[in-house]
Amino acid sequence: MVTALTKISAVALRLLLKPDHWKYSSYEYCPSCNRKSIIVYSYDGQRHISEITSTWESGSDFKKLVIKRENYFCHYCNANYRIRANAESVLRLLGMTSSGILFDKLRDDTGFHVYETAAYNIFRSTRIKKLPNYTVSEFFDNSDYGNYVNGIRNENLECLTFPDRTFDIVINCDVLEHVSDLNKALSEIKRVLKPGGFHVFTLPVDHKLPKTRERAKVVNGTIEHLLGPVMHGDSIRRQGVLAFRDFGSDVLQYASRDGFECREHTYLIDNQYVTSVYYAQKM
Ligand SMILES: [Zn+2]
Repeated sequence: MVTALTKISAVALRLLLKPDHWKYSSYEYCPSCNRKSIIVYSYDGQRHISEITSTWESGSDFKKLVIKRENYFCHYCNANYRIRANAESVLRLLGMTSSGILFDKLRDDTGFHVYETAAYNIFRSTRIKKLPNYTVSEFFDNSDYGNYVNGIRNENLECLTFPDRTFDIVINCDVLEHVSDLNKALSEIKRVLKPGGFHVFTLPVDHKLPKTRERAKVVNGTIEHLLGPVMHGDSIRRQGVLAFRDFGSDVLQYASRDGFECREHTYLIDNQYVTSVYYAQKM
């Protein structure tokens, strides 16, 4: 208790000392790191995302949403809004009130398997990542799939190396816009999910776009740009990662095809829409 109060005081002091860098937003439970936390709005983060999105041809409303969902950081684990929303949505789907309960479930039920396509995963507790039934991966195109690169499993969503019907849940956080062949990726996710299993994911969705727009495609192993290249920020690659498409308001229909039934949780700040988490069940 004393330690927690000391940490909160330290955060409050930093907020007071650097008011031009961040501001207090809320004090709430963080599902990513499983503790009550101070959530801060970062002006540096706002400037960084504004810079990245400045060259995008998307409208200002969408750019404002991107800035919001990439901000509101947990002071302890640095999870931004969309990451915490994704983690909350997984817990809600499982009827769990904390990620501690998810940890207990994974530890005690070795037949329950979760796969997340990011090494810097939505549940930031190192305890979860050490469990053999919480699998994480990244995509490295210079190494064989299924191998480990610097301790991280290498997987390509378009040709996963896992056996059929392995996972109860597959999680992506802003990944599907970066795979070149979305049909293949969704088929592979369906293949590795158990019947009744869930694909839980977030995407940057531009609701002003009536239809999802392809920006690039791969032809004979070479990327062909249909629109000007747009790079999104990436936790591993400094140069960012290419967006193959902009998802539009047909996203539910897009994600529901191929034997999935897809629904949506919406997340708001001050009654204003910020992001959605989609969850598609393998029927
Ligand atoms: Zn946190």
